[in-house]
Amino acid sequence: MKSIVGAEHASAADSVRGLHGQDQSSHAQVLPDVVVWPASTAEVSAIVKHANAHKIAITGWGAGSSLEGNSIPLKGGIVINFGRMNQILKVYEKDFQVTVQAGIFYKDMNAQLAKTGLFFAPDPGANASIGGMVANNAAGTRTVKYGATRDNVLALEVVLANGDVIRTGCRSKKQSAGYDLTHMIIGSEGTLGLVTEATLNLEPIPEYYSAAVASFPTTEDAAEAVFGIIGSGLDPAALEILDAESVRYMNMRHTDLPEKPTLLMEFHAAMEESLNAEMTLVEDICNDLGATRFEVGVGRDERNRLWEGRHSLGEILFSVYPDSTYLITDVSVPISQFPALAAYTNQLFTELDLNGALFGHAGDGSLHTVNFAPKDDLAKQAVLQDFNDRVVKRAIELDGTSTGEHGVGIGKKKYMVFEHGEGGVDAMRQLKHLFDPNNIFNPGKVVDF
Ligand SMILES: Cc1cc2nc3c(=O)[nH]c(=O)nc-3n(C[C@H](O)[C@H](O)[C@H](O)COP(=O)(O)OP(=O)(O)OC[C@H]3O[C@@H](n4cnc5c(N)ncnc54)[C@H](O)[C@@H]3O)c2cc1C
Repeated sequence: MKSIVGAEHASAADSVRGLHGQDQSSHAQVLPDVVVWPASTAEVSAIVKHANAHKIAITGWGAGSSLEGNSIPLKGGIVINFGRMNQILKVYEKDFQVTVQAGIFYKDMNAQLAKTGLFFAPDPGANASIGGMVANNAAGTRTVKYGATRDNVLALEVVLANGDVIRTGCRSKKQSAGYDLTHMIIGSEGTLGLVTEATLNLEPIPEYYSAAVASFPTTEDAAEAVFGIIGSGLDPAALEILDAESVRYMNMRHTDLPEKPTLLMEFHAAMEESLNAEMTLVEDICNDLGATRFEVGVGRDERNRLWEGRHSLGEILFSVYPDSTYLITDVSVPISQFPALAAYTNQLFTELDLNGALFGHAGDGSLHTVNFAPKDDLAKQAVLQDFNDRVVKRAIELDGTSTGEHGVGIGKKKYMVFEHGEGGVDAMRQLKHLFDPNNIFNPGKVVDF
């Protein structure tokens, strides 16, 4: 490895291996044998060729912020940290597009793009790398308006298992030329190829925006209001649900909201008048559906504080339960089914005597819960697993999915047959075999092989 990337860019030190053996989930750490930091696509290709010839596992590493064990190198081998490939290669201002190296972190990229008046909309909260977002098909608070990562990638440069470098897609918005390799790689969690460059769709930074906060008597009422807002044709840029417990955690550090089930919303518009009209309509809908409090048009500082609080929720929860293991659900359903899913999840909280937090990007039908169990309490951990299994089953019955944005990783693999059927999973296995016959890319993830 040192002969490919230079002596100072490969390390087998215990501390380095330890840092690259675990993501942000509770899955057990597995150490790689070596970590490398290539500086170019040519170096990535050379590493992959070597690994393929010797059947050595390779796992890509962006920021390591995955929540389902996606970046844990289950079979050891090589971890490729893309941190040195972190440049914006070209901004196409007139086309609202950018080409970047895979290792750039999206918040850093957006900070650099701000001077052009453009931004990349998908925002997973954590400062993830573009390669990791592409690999997990990350989404976030703004997906309800702007789509997930999948909807905002036009083209990729990918290193295949034999070391060949291919370019998928192009910069045209419309693309019908053959199999869609771009979208096959997106969401494949580094199991089919390694992404070295991505061409992304950007959005203009909105001229006018306004945040609003609405409190409701119950989580089910708040969930009904989500459906009411989306069902009325409104176009929120963010529509987040938080149960009373989640608000309580947010209040510990950032906010001072009533500890009630809450909707956190943001609207964007090119004209102030249309923004005001939208806000009036939202307020009417929330009030009609039982809101006990509606605050609109909070200023920039307050709005930033709200979103900071929302984005820090995970971090706050983990700090409150430092010695616990945790299980995060990441189900997603069609928006009409969201109230039923929220009601079922809440009912399970009561039935299983759990005091976890329920929150999510409700505007696109996403629901998360986080529940904690002491590390030595195996019985409680089994209850969390049972809870997770039942919520996933319900989401799939409601025509949804076991994972809306975190990916399959380690923990969701067991749901793949239930979600896709034997035939669907078998087709995925054949695809994996075609792309990666020696099973070197992130082995043990998505499907067994
Ligand atoms: C507090 C918190 C909040 C979060 N909120 C959200 C959220 O709202 N929405 C959401 O979607 N996610 C969320 N996440 C999860 C996480 O941020 C995303 O999954 C993100 O996409 C991971 O990016 P990363 O750079 O950290 O990737 P990593 O964790 O480093 O890797 C992710 C996967 O991509 C592969 N990979 C990495 N780089 C490449 C590459 N160049 N080519 C091919 N494969 C590669 C890895 O092998 C792994 O399978 C959150 C995480 C945290 C800690």
